[in-house]
Amino acid sequence: MISSLKALGPKHAELYPSFAPPETWRTAGSHVVFDEKGAGRVVPRKDNPRIWEQIRVEILERDNYACRYCGFQAFKWQIVHHIDGNPDNNDRANLETICPMCNLVLHCGRGVAVLKTVDLYQESTFSQAEVIQMTRVLRASGHADDEIIMRLGLTGKVRFRQDRAYLQRLVAFVSAREPARKDFMIKALAYGYDKAGKLLQANRRKTARKVGSKRGR
Ligand SMILES: [Zn+2]
Repeated sequence: MISSLKALGPKHAELYPSFAPPETWRTAGSHVVFDEKGAGRVVPRKDNPRIWEQIRVEILERDNYACRYCGFQAFKWQIVHHIDGNPDNNDRANLETICPMCNLVLHCGRGVAVLKTVDLYQESTFSQAEVIQMTRVLRASGHADDEIIMRLGLTGKVRFRQDRAYLQRLVAFVSAREPARKDFMIKALAYGYDKAGKLLQANRRKTARKVGSKRGR
């Protein structure tokens, strides 16, 4: 049944900083509806939670629990994202799996202005998706933010602006700072590091064993 589901075009979509309508930054689970005149108002999402959960699982399985932007695979905390920003458009082609860290980049208005854990830079040696992948691995192996920023070649820290064209040219860095506001997303981020950390430890143990057995000969 799962194999009959159409996957979304190319595996990795290009990632760059963006933001959701500012009215929604402070209210998780809300969205903006626009009337015929184009005026928006914030309303709580009124999805049937059981139906949404079914759709969510369907999409996660279709995408093999991997983030469409950085490729990170996790069986917990992945987010199913509405590509066009309309939470009522549950057309399967409008839904994609995204990890919490890439989600913070896509919604960096909230990350920079409300949570204050995301920083924006003009330059990096790497693409935004690579910045995410490397941040996760480096942090899991115990590197501090200063060091990660240096390794990623992040320079020219700039301010957030509600301007998508301006943001698209920047690279976002998800820091390890405590968020200014309690948010479940931060717990979700820790899960990523935790998993990567365990993987690294397991690999290290394997390597150590190999070295040990060579010495024993
Ligand atoms: Zn990701």
